[in-house]
Amino acid sequence: MYVVGHCVVTEWSGAFKPNNIYGEGVFPLMFPDYVRCHDWGYERCFDWGRPTLDGLLIYAHILGDWYVHYGGAVHEQKKKGWAYRRMGVYARRYNEFFANATRRGLRDVGPPADSVRGFSHTMVEYTIDTFLARRGEFDSHFAAVRAALGSLGVRDGVGSAEWIDETIRREAIVVNSPDLRADVESFRSRITESNRPEEFAFRAGIKKFGLRSCEQSVEHLCEYIEIGLSEISAEDLSSTVESTAEFVGAWIQRATEGSRREFTWT
Ligand SMILES: [Zn+2]
Repeated sequence: MYVVGHCVVTEWSGAFKPNNIYGEGVFPLMFPDYVRCHDWGYERCFDWGRPTLDGLLIYAHILGDWYVHYGGAVHEQKKKGWAYRRMGVYARRYNEFFANATRRGLRDVGPPADSVRGFSHTMVEYTIDTFLARRGEFDSHFAAVRAALGSLGVRDGVGSAEWIDETIRREAIVVNSPDLRADVESFRSRITESNRPEEFAFRAGIKKFGLRSCEQSVEHLCEYIEIGLSEISAEDLSSTVESTAEFVGAWIQRATEGSRREFTWT
């Protein structure tokens, strides 16, 4: 999932109040995507330790990704979650997607920048974001989230470059990014370029799949996501979001049980 998916799932989890998410909370919530710390998160996914507010939002992201990739089985990190079960929809079109992108001048000739599995399961995740965006779930939050994440690393306070470093230190996060500053900048610019909720995911795909950053690439992504939306049912998407939210809510609840009073959000 991407920005829209994580925000909506975390909201629906019931573990946070909306104003803990849509505001400065989007910075820790999206932390794993711009500092690349999913592996670190998955390792401690079912024993999060002593939680902080920022840490819990990072945890909510990790839990959402875990469920979509690996399902509800605790500690069993096997690629058999919903995203992998549905990826055939896109795997069948892997060659066509990259060949058409090349033909349209959206990428150079050469091997695709992502594997069949990487491409396909990621497209399934972007389908969740697009589904929610088109249902209007994010409309009232788009402007604020875009403005906030669009200042990542160049603002003061929460979301600043210093805050990112401090959060990595405080939460003892193991970062996978070879160039953290460049990743943060790339994330920020993709957010800023997005003109509507579904574009967040389309532009993430453009980067991941090695396409040129331009409007034609946005249309290219959109064209293929539309195919996914026509082949994966709304009920399936909807119930997946609901069960992911339930999973996130249950584990956040567990992580805060001992310290409920500290986490009565206001
Ligand atoms: Zn993620």
